[in-house]
Amino acid sequence: MRADNTRPVPRPGVLAIEAYVPGKSSAPGAAKIYKLSSNETPLGPPPAAIEAFKNAADELALYPDGSSKPLREAIAGRFGLDPARIICGSGSDEILSLITNAYMGPGDEGLYSEHGFLVYKLAILAAGGTPVVAPEKNLTTDVDALLARVTPKTKIVYLANPNNPTGTYIPFEEVKRLHAGLPKNVLLVLDAAYAEYVRRNDYAAGIELVSEFENVVMTRTFSKIYGLALVRLGWCYAPAGVADALNRIRGPFNVNGPAMAAGIAAIGDESHIAKAIAHNERWLPWLTTEIEKLGLKVTPSVGNFLLIHFPKTGKTAKEADAFLSQNGLILRSVAAYGLPDALRLTVGQEDANRHLVGTLAKFMGA
Ligand SMILES: *Cc1c(COP(=O)(O)O)cnc(C)c1O
Repeated sequence: MRADNTRPVPRPGVLAIEAYVPGKSSAPGAAKIYKLSSNETPLGPPPAAIEAFKNAADELALYPDGSSKPLREAIAGRFGLDPARIICGSGSDEILSLITNAYMGPGDEGLYSEHGFLVYKLAILAAGGTPVVAPEKNLTTDVDALLARVTPKTKIVYLANPNNPTGTYIPFEEVKRLHAGLPKNVLLVLDAAYAEYVRRNDYAAGIELVSEFENVVMTRTFSKIYGLALVRLGWCYAPAGVADALNRIRGPFNVNGPAMAAGIAAIGDESHIAKAIAHNERWLPWLTTEIEKLGLKVTPSVGNFLLIHFPKTGKTAKEADAFLSQNGLILRSVAAYGLPDALRLTVGQEDANRHLVGTLAKFMGA
């Protein structure tokens, strides 16, 4: 690179980052829009969260609680955790970058799996680290492939379980095997953004591992089943040493007051979460079956979204995306995840789900 003293230049690696492109939210020309591109809940937030958010407007002049204490206590009460080991953030995205910045620098490696959540790569590059990718089997995390790529430079292993955008998961026994194979100085980050949706006896989000070991962190979000994506709220459960490090580097007031108020109210409404789970249990299998009937392959998902695979020629993912868009249906292109022939669909309200299947049928028949 040429020396350039004429203007500020970002440190090495920053310009190697391709900025995250969020799911689309508009479909020009369509009468009604169904946004099925970002895994948001079709049920919205619990009504008490909306109320709490509005009430927070009365306090706009005041700084929020700097350590998110009321929210940490609410989370601790709900999940039976030690509030001192919970760190809250502006979305779990912020938590992921705090963890990465605290434990990784130039020369270090961050490891994740082939179709893993893209935010890991961004966080690694932003910290000056080197992303290392392990191949998957059947669009599913392969523990042996991850372990085979651990080197003395590895600082963090990131595992989204279930993973976005594939919707697949690995059983807790496999997560434990992954942890057992890691050196004690390597941090295992378990991203459990979709934990609430998983209906499998062999699944666990990872609290047990965080409680027992000093090198496991579990991240969670209020953006998905809690319906609070707009306010940006996430948290992690960490060993004391990791919690201490994150508290040193996070912004002093990194969670805003209205978000905190909404989160506390949301976590108290178990019935709303139960409704969201029931909705997903009904429509995830329905969508899977109906889309497969059209001759398309669907990756079995345990989340609130699924991957639809299109042929490489003929009825391609790109053409399907355009056709669905014209009909107001916004799905997520996942080419950036190495899946150019697939689209990711979020489970929506009944009318959206039916409209999606009807429109896809027209596309396939056309
Ligand atoms: C949506 C999602 C998150 C949540 O991000 P927030 O910043 O909390 O909105 C985290 N991890 C994965 C895998 C996700 O899909």
